[in-house]
Amino acid sequence: RASVGPKYLSGLNPEQREAVETLDGPVLVLAGAGTGKTRVLTTRIAHILSQGRARPAEILSVTFTNKAAREMKHRLGQMLGHAVEGMPWLGTFHSIGGRILRFHAELAQLKSNFTVLDVDDQVRLLKQLLQAENIDDKRWPARMLAGLIDGWKNRGLMPSQVPSGEAAVFANGKGGKLYASYQERLKILNAADFGDLLLENIRIFREHPDILRQYQQRFKYILVDEYQDTNVAQYLWLRLLSQAPSQPALPVAAAPDAIDDPSRDAALAAQALAPAAARLKNICCVGDDDQSIYGWRGAEVDNILRFEHDFPGAKVIRLERNYRSTGHILAAASHLIAHNEGRLGKTLRTEDQDGEKVTVTGSWDSEEEARGIGEEIEQLQRQGEKLNEIAILVRASYQMREFEDRFVTLGLPYRVIGGPRFYERAEIRDALAYLRVINSPADDLAFERIVNTPKRGLGDATVQMLHDHARKRRIPLFEAARAVVETDELKPKARGSLRDLVAQFDRWRAQREVTAHTDLAQIVLDESGYTEMWQKDRSADAAGRLENLKELVRSMEEFENLQGFLEHISLVMDREGGAEDDAVSLMTLHSAKGLEFDNVFLPGWEEGLFPSQRTLDEQGRAGLEEERRLGHVGLTRARRRAKIYFATNRRIHGTWSTTIPSRFLDELPAANVEITESKGGSAWGGTGGYGASRFDDMEAFGSSYSTPGWQRAQANRNRGGGRSGGGRGGFEEEATTFSTSSSSGPDFGSF
Ligand code: ATP
Ligand code: MG
Repeated sequence: RASVGPKYLSGLNPEQREAVETLDGPVLVLAGAGTGKTRVLTTRIAHILSQGRARPAEILSVTFTNKAAREMKHRLGQMLGHAVEGMPWLGTFHSIGGRILRFHAELAQLKSNFTVLDVDDQVRLLKQLLQAENIDDKRWPARMLAGLIDGWKNRGLMPSQVPSGEAAVFANGKGGKLYASYQERLKILNAADFGDLLLENIRIFREHPDILRQYQQRFKYILVDEYQDTNVAQYLWLRLLSQAPSQPALPVAAAPDAIDDPSRDAALAAQALAPAAARLKNICCVGDDDQSIYGWRGAEVDNILRFEHDFPGAKVIRLERNYRSTGHILAAASHLIAHNEGRLGKTLRTEDQDGEKVTVTGSWDSEEEARGIGEEIEQLQRQGEKLNEIAILVRASYQMREFEDRFVTLGLPYRVIGGPRFYERAEIRDALAYLRVINSPADDLAFERIVNTPKRGLGDATVQMLHDHARKRRIPLFEAARAVVETDELKPKARGSLRDLVAQFDRWRAQREVTAHTDLAQIVLDESGYTEMWQKDRSADAAGRLENLKELVRSMEEFENLQGFLEHISLVMDREGGAEDDAVSLMTLHSAKGLEFDNVFLPGWEEGLFPSQRTLDEQGRAGLEEERRLGHVGLTRARRRAKIYFATNRRIHGTWSTTIPSRFLDELPAANVEITESKGGSAWGGTGGYGASRFDDMEAFGSSYSTPGWQRAQANRNRGGGRSGGGRGGFEEEATTFSTSSSSGPDFGSF
């Protein structure tokens, strides 16, 4: 039986095969990157189907992204030799939860055609609630509340379950009440937010045991990829579904089984879990504790560490052979992650060749870095490498801008995965809209975009009136605005506000003649209140948006004037993203999970950027370990080449800051790493000048760096107690003043 069997089993190693063939009872595959965990899951589905154990509609399979779900479906078709009809339950937690919720919408006081709100809608709704409660939105921003509510939902907490201490952190104890009224409002609007898609499932399952039983009966097999990144709500949802249907209905107030473990989040204790003895059925989870990178979003690596406790009788299977990467890459990645303390520890080996060493390249600045990587990609292309097999993985999304511009210049097709391209981000579009109106007062689309952003009391009614005026007189909206403020058609407040705006644009246009375009852009963002709008915003992504805005201003330096810059933008925007079949992939390290490429570029390995200063500040040692896991994820995406970069200078906010190479570079094994010269060239000493001369004489990593710069970096780092900057007026100082003052220094590490 070991040697014969269906074709899809033939390539598997014995442990993989065991994971595929152990169909009964809970199974955990705990294994490192590239060991075939995802492949095991796919093969397992094929096996279940071809053995006739279940029909496609009886299998629940959770992937981390929709893309991964599509990929899995495709592979499945290949394995079985025919397309699989009906795999309705293959998708992300959200997509499956949403599907279930639509069937039972009425039990959540919704209609089955409910809308799913995005973050912006969510914030708008919360703002209204704050207004109604007379809570000062400046002091207690809606985005902060949105973040809190999200966090509670990730932990499976309904409004009544939020610990009072936590509800108290917002608006003097009103947090919990606001959460409750927010939920009520959602029902009235026939809407759900992302968190609800699972939370409402959990509630329905709890309150309607018959419905839960129906799903327990339906799903004969449950499979979960990337289990290390599940949060409490996802865990609870899985836990409910994975109980055997023969169990009597769960008493809603059953004793929680997690209460004996004080380290577990208090939220779990508030949950009614079935007794641990409940018979659990065929659930197979795969994951890797070393790739847990969503702690900041509420994921609990504990879920994987406690699997055997939560799913008694579980079979734990370890896979040790990595099929993805060459020897040098795997050794470098393993060595790096070995510096983490909180890990289970796993063996990873490859039978592949050593291949090329991981390269580390220092550049003078981020521009040279982008130029160098652009050249290397072109060189790879000349060697016959497919662009599809090339990825650039960044720590912070603003890093992408430089690469996108470079690729447009080179005519290299690229796609951004897991997020909009730089110039398509909302804050960038807003900023560009201001500049477009300055450049061309007739640009109605741009004017309409920013007329009330930030809010200046020029709502829909005003815009409608401007439209009417403009249409009647056949003039642009901006000119209509100029005319309308001379009449008394608008209420005094709106009229004053619109008059100010028109005057501001007139002034900026006049300034354009005498001010450098980069300065003008900064002035416009500041004077319009746009920068301030994001500075006051305490949501998780606000800092990232401010970084993007700074990066935008900085990118303008490369153009002679505003006109030239805007022309370039229209070219960039015009390129249909993702249309090309063969294109370089650009994404954050976070979005790269589960993916693999022959060639992986890893730019920006500098203290403050990677590891991210913000993560270190907020989460200390745990944050550092999560950053290191992120580095591990990055390296293990590579099949044949992994190339790391750091720039010695990054220009931030118009001024140069000297940077310190990432501590993670010290943690790479010298034997598997090669220092190379930047191909980016530079104005400061020709091709690779600075980077090369500085790193020529490095013999090994660690203590034997002989270059003064590096030693200084080390010393600074030690003095700073693990923080970067070490009194050089670099990132750290500016970063800490960032969210509290208008001097807005850089803040790295957003995604
Ligand atoms: P990650 O932790 O990064 O998600 P993973 O454990 O899910 O990795 P897979 O993506 O399933 O790993 O597999 C990595 C690569 O190794 C894939 O290209 C896969 O096809 C290949 N692979 C896995 N198992 C085998 C095998 N037995 N024989 C040949 N190739 C294999
Ligand atoms: Mg995988």
